[in-house]
Amino acid sequence: MKTDLYGLTRQELTELVLGWGEPAFRAQQIWHWLYRQLATSLTEMHNLPPALRERMERQVVVGQPKLVAARKSADGEAEKWLLEMADGETVETVLMSYDRGDTLCISSQVGCAMGCLFCATGQMGFRRHLSSGEIVAQAVASERELRRKGRRLKNLVFMGMGEPLHNYAATVEAIRCLIDPDGFGLGARRVTVSTVGLAPQIRRLADEEWQVGLAISLHAATDEERSRLIPAARGWSVVELVAAGRHYWERTGRRVTFECALIQGENDTLKQAEALSRLVSDMPCHVNLIPLNATAGYVGQGSSPKRVNRFCQVLTRHGVSCTVRLRRGTDIEAGCGQLRQQLGTAASATQTA
Ligand code: SAH
Ligand code: SF4
Repeated sequence: MKTDLYGLTRQELTELVLGWGEPAFRAQQIWHWLYRQLATSLTEMHNLPPALRERMERQVVVGQPKLVAARKSADGEAEKWLLEMADGETVETVLMSYDRGDTLCISSQVGCAMGCLFCATGQMGFRRHLSSGEIVAQAVASERELRRKGRRLKNLVFMGMGEPLHNYAATVEAIRCLIDPDGFGLGARRVTVSTVGLAPQIRRLADEEWQVGLAISLHAATDEERSRLIPAARGWSVVELVAAGRHYWERTGRRVTFECALIQGENDTLKQAEALSRLVSDMPCHVNLIPLNATAGYVGQGSSPKRVNRFCQVLTRHGVSCTVRLRRGTDIEAGCGQLRQQLGTAASATQTA
């Protein structure tokens, strides 16, 4: 089987090229073709000597995920793709066009092992990790699309399918590639990792000392309520989790965001709002409130605007910075994992809208 160039780290590419008896700068040229020019084939790489190109034709390919379904939101601002990997597994990638620039939401796993009750990806269970190449490929594919329209990707968030910190090595390798100034070149501050809150991995990520943003999906401020919604939360208390968030801020200088998907009558109570205020009011952070997007496998519904605003007011009164985020693209199943859930498994997901 031929090696996929987009599946290689920069180090691996260099080793491959050196192993062919070529000078290291050839690896740099190929890297530029892949991440600056966003090449889709070897024939585009015209500054490589013919003998090297012939060898590459025999041994490597420029892999690309296949677009098997696309949906545009009614307002045209969100576009969701279902991308098929080489083994037929599919993941979701969502491009959101805000006034402040285009934001891409990418997946890190096929399915997820964390089992959050309210999440469509959690409901499908864990299938496999994505490789760093498969993570990066989502950004490359969307950047190609944007460039065709004369635009550029501005922000990238790990808020698609999967738990990025459960797939730690590939996530970190993908970020390294995306923020490489000599490659894809996205500013580290424009990348945000969203995590269900694996405390030890948050500390590890902090130690990378990147300027990458961190969003912790907290959803509840008491251990009892949190572990009811998120089975994986039983590993760490909310206090340990917030401490890991504080450590992240101390190491990187980046203020952490806490995400709360509010569920009517469940985690949107005054008691929860008070508990959350006590938990985070002494650290620089921001709280994002999102009414839950209802999914097929969970009975809970999104909180009413009245309850979301009441929750927000409690936080604000305690001096906690807080915003209410109305979800975009709910008409295109833009909630994590919902398009794949709706279209069924990879084999049956052939519908293109
Ligand atoms: N696994 C990571 C990143 C992917 S989920 C995490 O959990 O953070 C991205 C975000 O979507 C998380 O904040 C998650 O809680 C939220 N989410 C998942 N299902 C949702 C739903 N049905 N409605 C609203 N938000 C949801
Ligand atoms: Fe996994 Fe995140 Fe969904 Fe929880 S919310 S199941 S961690 S993808």
